[in-house]
Amino acid sequence: MEYKVGKYDVAVVGAGHAGCEAALAAARMGLKTVAFAINLDSIALMACNPSIGGPGKGNMVREIDVLGGQMGINVDKTFIQMRMLNTKKGPAVRALRSQLDKRAYSASMKSTIENQANLDIVQEEVIKILVDGDRVKGVMTKTLGIYEAKAVIVTTGVYLRGRIVIGDMSYNGGPSGLFPANELSKSLEDLGFELGRFKTGTPPRIHKDSVDFSKMIIQPGDDNIIPFSFTSDKIERKQIPCWLTYTNKVTHKIIEENLYRAPLYTGDIKGAGPRYCPSVEMKIVNFKNKTSHQIFIEPEGIGTNEMYIQGLSTSLPVDVQIKMTRSVKGLENAKIMRFGYAIEYDFVIPTQLKPTLEAKAVQSLYMAGQINGTSGYEEAAAQGLIAGINAALKIKEKEPLILSRSDAYIGVLIDDLVTKGVMEPYRILTSRAEYRLLLRQDNADIRLMDKGHKIGLISDEAYKKFLKKKKTIDEEIRRLKSVKITPTARANKVLEQLETAMLNSPSTLAELLKRPELNYDILKVLDENRIDLPSEVVEQVEIATKYEGYIKRQIAQVEQFKKLENKKIPEDINYEEIYGLGFEAREKLKKVKPLSIGQASRISGVNPSDITVMMIYLETRRRKKLHVQ
Ligand SMILES: Cc1cc2nc3c(=O)[nH]c(=O)nc-3n(C[C@H](O)[C@H](O)[C@H](O)COP(=O)(O)OP(=O)(O)OC[C@H]3O[C@@H](n4cnc5c(N)ncnc54)[C@H](O)[C@@H]3O)c2cc1C
Repeated sequence: MEYKVGKYDVAVVGAGHAGCEAALAAARMGLKTVAFAINLDSIALMACNPSIGGPGKGNMVREIDVLGGQMGINVDKTFIQMRMLNTKKGPAVRALRSQLDKRAYSASMKSTIENQANLDIVQEEVIKILVDGDRVKGVMTKTLGIYEAKAVIVTTGVYLRGRIVIGDMSYNGGPSGLFPANELSKSLEDLGFELGRFKTGTPPRIHKDSVDFSKMIIQPGDDNIIPFSFTSDKIERKQIPCWLTYTNKVTHKIIEENLYRAPLYTGDIKGAGPRYCPSVEMKIVNFKNKTSHQIFIEPEGIGTNEMYIQGLSTSLPVDVQIKMTRSVKGLENAKIMRFGYAIEYDFVIPTQLKPTLEAKAVQSLYMAGQINGTSGYEEAAAQGLIAGINAALKIKEKEPLILSRSDAYIGVLIDDLVTKGVMEPYRILTSRAEYRLLLRQDNADIRLMDKGHKIGLISDEAYKKFLKKKKTIDEEIRRLKSVKITPTARANKVLEQLETAMLNSPSTLAELLKRPELNYDILKVLDENRIDLPSEVVEQVEIATKYEGYIKRQIAQVEQFKKLENKKIPEDINYEEIYGLGFEAREKLKKVKPLSIGQASRISGVNPSDITVMMIYLETRRRKKLHVQ
């Protein structure tokens, strides 16, 4: 018998990477919130790789942090290794990457959730979304509990009709031996949502004592640890290394000889998998000429001997998994503690959502995370935060938070999902961002902290500290442009020693800093009035000065981009009455319902000629309206 449990403002279905951010954001914005998980001991479970960050993903963790999210802080509390990648490359692709203690990460997030005011967490499976007409009104759980809510956020990850596949064996299951969620998909279909099927996979875990590290290349963390969160002070911590080894001809032969038993190739697995996290069998098939692939052995944590084999994701039968693993150098005696597997699951076609992640068909129903067709902890957390913020802002009758492609990687991610849709699990990449020189991981606060403070998730104290930093950066950039170095004998002797061209006319410090062979620290000898500045200020001053030209050019491109983004399309537009639109374009526009001409121009199948037709139609409509008034 159904029974009423309680009334909430926001109900969050799931406490994974998306669910935690959504629930914390709504509760911290003062809303009475409840979150559900199938198992409370799997809150923020890292079901796959024990790492967070890297190019694009690391940028998003920083963006989550400055918008008031939790992931960055939780990483800084529980990492066992931190590295800055691509340090020799330009700032647009530099990215932090952390190795985490998985159990500590989950436990720390659970503790944050348990101690958050306005937030209840319940171990229950949600089986139904309750609606009143086209508006959400709550959820029902497996025990027939009714939780009324003004907004519902679904963040069910890989659990919806989860199916585990290992060789020719498969069963209904969630990740890491957890239960699946078998009933909610039907409720979503009954509400008219179109679902798709995707798959992802994970590699075996082996016992540390069965690994011969002497045959591998150590991958240590950085000496100078740079934290993910802008709220973290300097961190000193003993770090644990990862190890590099390779597959070889024997490994490849074992896999090739058993491809006929691989569910990916027997057709047992139907869902599309992540192109950028391919299984090892897929790599062997797609890259036949490669005689070896990198394998990273990554510790899963401090209190465990489990080691994650990055690069050996598979759903091959267990006997093959044992043979192929032991064919890798250093793993000859590997003891497998958990076998690799693939999981197939339902996802919701994301073009059914608005850029706020609210569903177009059901008011105040939001979706976030893997359920939207993405893959990755960072992608999920970013969506969860935005959905949580927007659910709260809507209840407070405030303007929604929509990040554009020129604001943030989160903006690129969500715009790609709701405008272009997905054919396979979507993962963020730097190459997806047109304006990546502006969307760096080092300037996330300058780009977004205003927004985090405005919505109330960034404290006044943190914001004041940020404004002070920003002021110092601007002043120092101006100072470098104003300080002139004249070609004195001393100055030129210093420049000669620095093996850079000498001056024959006065030059500003800023002009000197633009020289690739010089940097801010080196220039100290010529800069008598300099005061010592924090490293994060110096980093901004250096990048803004050295890349000034490129940054200006990208800002000009953003101005162009914004012109089309600001050409809004009225919600009540009727595409049937627009003469001259292509058939495919009309169908796609009716489905996606873009908010602007800019968004319309990114829908595949909408051609430039269709955009011209749209612009003329909107202009005629605007004039007609003016006329009538
Ligand atoms: C086998 C495997 C391999 C992966 N491989 C990769 C990879 O290679 N690269 C990568 O980037 N990412 C990978 N991932 C993905 C990564 O784990 C997810 O992207 C990330 O966890 C998604 O976060 P989420 O919050 O959307 O969902 P999840 O972290 O899956 O959390 C979902 C939450 O919803 C809860 N839940 C689900 N249904 C219900 C319900 N009906 N009622 C109540 N609670 C419910 C669950 O208990 C859980 O708390 C993999 C995941 C798995 C399982």
